Amino acid sequence: MRATILETTRQPLRIATLPDPSAGSGELLIRVEACGVCHADVSVADGDWPIGLPRVLGHEIVGTVAAVGPGVEGFAVGERVATGWQHGSCGQCRECRNGLPMLCTGGLTVTGSDVDGGFAELVLAEAAFTVAVPDGLDPAEAAPLTCVGVTAFAALRRAGALVGSHVGVLGLGGMGHLAIQFAAASGMEVLALSRDPAKESQARELGATDFAVFDRDHEPESAEGSLDLLLVTGIDTTTVGAALRLLRPEGRLVVLGFGEPFSVDPADLCNGAKTVMGSLVGTPDDLADTLAFAARHGIRARVETGALEQVNDALDRVRRGLVRYRAVLLP
Ligand SMILES: [Zn+2]
Ligand SMILES: [Zn+2]
Repeated sequence: MRATILETTRQPLRIATLPDPSAGSGELLIRVEACGVCHADVSVADGDWPIGLPRVLGHEIVGTVAAVGPGVEGFAVGERVATGWQHGSCGQCRECRNGLPMLCTGGLTVTGSDVDGGFAELVLAEAAFTVAVPDGLDPAEAAPLTCVGVTAFAALRRAGALVGSHVGVLGLGGMGHLAIQFAAASGMEVLALSRDPAKESQARELGATDFAVFDRDHEPESAEGSLDLLLVTGIDTTTVGAALRLLRPEGRLVVLGFGEPFSVDPADLCNGAKTVMGSLVGTPDDLADTLAFAARHGIRARVETGALEQVNDALDRVRRGLVRYRAVLLP
């Protein structure tokens, strides 16, 4: 199979021909149709998160089942499936036993970091972390749903957002543009927050009911105390402390990106009894529901696509923040 390999951090990935993998017990071999390029791939390629090398990166995968490993039921060759950031979990720890495998403390494995990922023609996935893709979803537009999409979707659920809730989405990148669509389609009032005023029309087109410029120098006074929930979707987390002031009493701020450390004024937290929490991807059921919801409501990632050979270009565009809204490779 053709694949791209990270051999040395901070060096371009190399296109290579590798032996086709074969599906072991509990595994599916997936022929990759589309794999999104995530900021996490850039962090790995740049050596920010050390992993064993060489490695095939990529963890936002939609493809068709090429082979079904021993012991796997419920999947057929040729069926379209999706798998994401989480490759596997220990299955034994308290979190796994309680149905929260993405919080596994006994041996969580990550696609494209701990095992080879989807910047290749073929990839192995654990069947337990693979779900069917409903009809009507384009592979390229669905691939980002397996990482940033399910992250936003599950965060809305876990933070208790309801129909009519006032939800803020800070950051209008790959995750933010999906978060707006999910919240709007769920009947929430959505305030899009970006440092770039030029993003307003795009945010409204995605379903935002309101828009405000928000960065270190701009705090929208009119939005203060207006939000039940605020999703911080980008990797710029430096404004979290100020963003707390946008919450209503008992509001929740959910951090979804691995950004810079931030500080919070305890008074902004205690006055109004507010919560700062994190959320990490979602369960396989969350992923299945994300895809089903997207298919039903016409939610899709806005993507720019390229061939496998363009992987280094794509990584560089993500690194420089030039992608609107998601880069996706089509192996
Ligand atoms: Zn990702
Ligand atoms: Zn576990």
